Amino acid sequence: MKSSEQLSKIDGKTKIAGVFGYPVEHSLSPLFHNAAFARLGLNFVYLPFPVKPEELKAAVKSIRSLSMVGVNVTIPHKEKVLPYLDQISPGAKAIGAVNTIHNKEGKLTGYNTDGDGFIESLKKQGGFDPKNKNVFLLGAGGAAYAISFALIKSGIKKLILANRTYSKGRALLEHLKKNFQDECQLSLVEFVEKNSSFIMNEIDLLINATSIGMHSGDPLLVVPEILPPNIFIYDVVYNRKTPLLKLAEEKKLASLGGLDMLVYQGALSFEIWTDQKAPIETMRKVLMEEFIAHSS
Ligand code: NDP
Repeated sequence: MKSSEQLSKIDGKTKIAGVFGYPVEHSLSPLFHNAAFARLGLNFVYLPFPVKPEELKAAVKSIRSLSMVGVNVTIPHKEKVLPYLDQISPGAKAIGAVNTIHNKEGKLTGYNTDGDGFIESLKKQGGFDPKNKNVFLLGAGGAAYAISFALIKSGIKKLILANRTYSKGRALLEHLKKNFQDECQLSLVEFVEKNSSFIMNEIDLLINATSIGMHSGDPLLVVPEILPPNIFIYDVVYNRKTPLLKLAEEKKLASLGGLDMLVYQGALSFEIWTDQKAPIETMRKVLMEEFIAHSS
């Protein structure tokens, strides 16, 4: 069934999911969640809700009063939403951010599927198992927190961090040390070290978890000469093919872009709400079509 046919079947039993963000009009989540509901013939609908920061508490309360099945939470609410929930999964609590809320009989539970979505996409879409690998992670914002936790849980050997604002990189390093102690070799280097071939040569996986590449005209993240031939590149930016991803393609390096993480984190939210296996290929296909339509 097509999403449009599904929408015409909305009735008294339709379950409502959605996304709380501000702004939210550019969100791609309604597109692929509605396609996934339609693919499985589920009587669900997914809507965007522009929730101003001062309205967040009331909006979360409305999940209960409107008997919504749950919502995704995006910028700027991922951290601020925690106090309004009844319980928080251990993973989301450790990261300090929630991207998925599930309403089960009036009880609201917060989850964070960003990190696990990243790992799932890396393994399933990228064919790369991070276990025992050395990873260089650029960034220390929300995406970097979720990804670094998930990487350590998946058994990487070494994690090198770098962030433009060194103090924020240090805060992430300290947070990881507190949560994981000796599970992985952790270090922080200056942001300019992203161009160090000394570091890059010992790395299996390079991740851009900064916003560099989101805007047209953004610079290439690293100098091309330093990338070793077997490195895997993951750029979490999802609104365009970034210069880093273009470089990976030119150099025939294995790579993934942020759309893959978006699909897999969304699939995990979908599974929390519906208790059904998400139709990943359908979700990925509609996203890729949208991406191609807007990049041509
Ligand atoms: P935050 O605002 O929390 O963090 C932004 C990060 O980017 C910080 O590390 C910041 O460094 C760095 N940064 C921003 N501008 C620059 C610059 N000009 N030079 C160097 N570093 C810079 O954002 P998020 O972590 O939430 O998001 C980061 C990226 O990840 C975005 O592109 C976002 O769209 C994407 N994302 C993708 C997801 C997916 O599913 N694919 C999920 C979540 C996010 P500093 O600390 O110095 O400011």
